[in-house]
Amino acid sequence: MTAAPYVRLKGIAKRWNGQLGVEDISLDIEEGAFVALLGPSGCGKSTTLRLLAGLELPDEGTIHIDGRDVTTSAASDRNLSMVFQSYALFPHLSVAENVVFGLKVRRVPRAERQEKMARALEITGLTGLEARKPAELSGGQRQRVALARAIIAGQRLCLMDEPLSNLDAKLRNAVRKDIKKLQRDLGITVVYVTHDQTEAMSMADKVVLMKEGRIQQIGSPDDLYNRPANTFVAEFIGAPP
Ligand code: ADP
Ligand code: MG
Repeated sequence: MTAAPYVRLKGIAKRWNGQLGVEDISLDIEEGAFVALLGPSGCGKSTTLRLLAGLELPDEGTIHIDGRDVTTSAASDRNLSMVFQSYALFPHLSVAENVVFGLKVRRVPRAERQEKMARALEITGLTGLEARKPAELSGGQRQRVALARAIIAGQRLCLMDEPLSNLDAKLRNAVRKDIKKLQRDLGITVVYVTHDQTEAMSMADKVVLMKEGRIQQIGSPDDLYNRPANTFVAEFIGAPP
């Protein structure tokens, strides 16, 4: 018997007043994998991620996470964390307060909060910056705070929507490596949305290339480079047709 995948989307469709978001999205994700949702603007990457997160509910299809049918479960009941493009930090709170915010809300005891925070700050290279306010940080440091906040929750599944798009090229490279290392070290499953094919191809074990709400190909970076399923894939990836 083969183990069920950690995440399974099956036949997912989402429309708004007849306008297509995504259609016929079926995708299996193994535990510990780094999966990139890739494609041009408007192709349905964020919609797919939001459906997985429970921020939208599908019109058709089912979603399983860790063997549990979560198709209609609330976002708070899906045991995952999320990192967005805009870091969404509280400007009036310090780095430390921003990072532990979710734990405080969940009434995690203070000693445990401190311990988890120390570890999350160490992992993200933010130790020593606890008292700073977001405005006193660089863009890269702010994104690291968002990462620290996501990993402190201790979830095994982390969803990221274009987390690097507000950073300049140099920082993007550095934080890209941070994210990869974090994912490997913690053994978490990451679903990562990007429109940047270089980013997807360099980070992901599995790339899901989308166009106009539909999946065009699912495969390893090598598959997409060397065995594109159609001309759209070949042209998007930049491989010879
Ligand atoms: P991407 O993240 O790949 O740029 P999105 O998932 O944001 O694409 O959008 C996919 C399609 O769904 C687009 O045509 C977009 O306009 C539409 N869409 C997304 N969210 C909504 C919404 N809340 N209401 C109406 N249309 C939406
Ligand atoms: Mg998007």
